[in-house]
Amino acid sequence: MSHAVYLDYAATTPVDPAVVDVMVRYLGPEGTFANPASRSHLYGWLAEEAVENARRQVADALNADPREIVWTSGATEANNLALKGVLEARGGGHVITAATEHKAVLDACGWLERQGHPVTYLKPDASGRIAPQSVAQALREDTVLVSVMHANNETGVINDIAAIGALCREHGALFHTDAAQSAGKLALDVQALPVDLVSVCAHKIYGPKGIGALYVRRTPGVQVAAQIHGGGHERGMRSGTLASHQIVGMGEAFALAMSRRDADNERIAGLRDRLWSGLQALGQVTLNGEGAERLPGHLNVAFAGVDGEMLLTAMNQVAVSSGSACTSASLEPSYVLKAMGIADALAHGSIRFSVGRFTRAEDIERVIAHVTETVNRLRQVRAG
Ligand SMILES: *Cc1c(COP(=O)(O)O)cnc(C)c1O
Repeated sequence: MSHAVYLDYAATTPVDPAVVDVMVRYLGPEGTFANPASRSHLYGWLAEEAVENARRQVADALNADPREIVWTSGATEANNLALKGVLEARGGGHVITAATEHKAVLDACGWLERQGHPVTYLKPDASGRIAPQSVAQALREDTVLVSVMHANNETGVINDIAAIGALCREHGALFHTDAAQSAGKLALDVQALPVDLVSVCAHKIYGPKGIGALYVRRTPGVQVAAQIHGGGHERGMRSGTLASHQIVGMGEAFALAMSRRDADNERIAGLRDRLWSGLQALGQVTLNGEGAERLPGHLNVAFAGVDGEMLLTAMNQVAVSSGSACTSASLEPSYVLKAMGIADALAHGSIRFSVGRFTRAEDIERVIAHVTETVNRLRQVRAG
């Protein structure tokens, strides 16, 4: 395992050492370990100050007001809070989402359907994008919420959330976007964008797992009913003692991402493009999401004439995913690739490579050689 090149940054990233340094200061007896809700002593005040500083760091990355940031346990919970919380606050209604969303949105929508709320699932175009036009056609009199992700976790394909949000606003429907993959990588300015709710998390951008946030617009105020009840933390929207060490880690990760964004994106896209040009020499390879704008680190490749599971097993020098990490346990081809109209055989032969901050140029050369050798060998076995 230690010898394999890690190219699965879209599943999760290691925590940046600079973030680790900050986090450990909020754990031990000499650190700022107190409950941020403790109002009766300095320990508590210092912990609260650290949480509020991190809230500002995350808010700054979105150009939001810190009071618009609600801490959650990750993007899964943020998506659940947005979808269930808005439907509850509104007393029900029609929801529009996309067939290519993360399971955290799709399964929450399935739950809403079982509660009697109708949901429309939009199909992407062949590149994986949700056309704003298809949102316009699906909007109904009773549509209360539209949820379309910023960038897809499997393909990296970026949706035009400015255009989709504008249509929602015109129609009077709220717009939620799952930005777990794009936050810290793409410009995401809530003052410029017509978005009402945004889900983000730390562990896709070199922060710790188990912490995220939901941006909830204050003007005009968006009502979200709490889904976790307790001490009334987070202005009543999400109870539970704040995970201060996770929160300062997320704040630091977002601040670091903002300061490094352009340089990181440029370097990572360069490595990703080198990987693609190296793999293209194999022939009979296609890029899933071709023609769409994509995140800098993603490369989802279909290898004709090989089985993806066999390829994954045979490739022991690189850590990657088939489809997404969440669905690769099943033998079903990726539902995202299927929704894009990609044939089952090619979807089965698809691998997601994702490059990140700690990937080196020599790692990419090693992966190109390894994948080339492995694919050629598997294709020969099939042909023979
Ligand atoms: C990773 C991811 C999630 C889930 O986030 P967690 O913080 O792991 O719960 C949701 N949506 C997208 C698009 C993701 O990539």
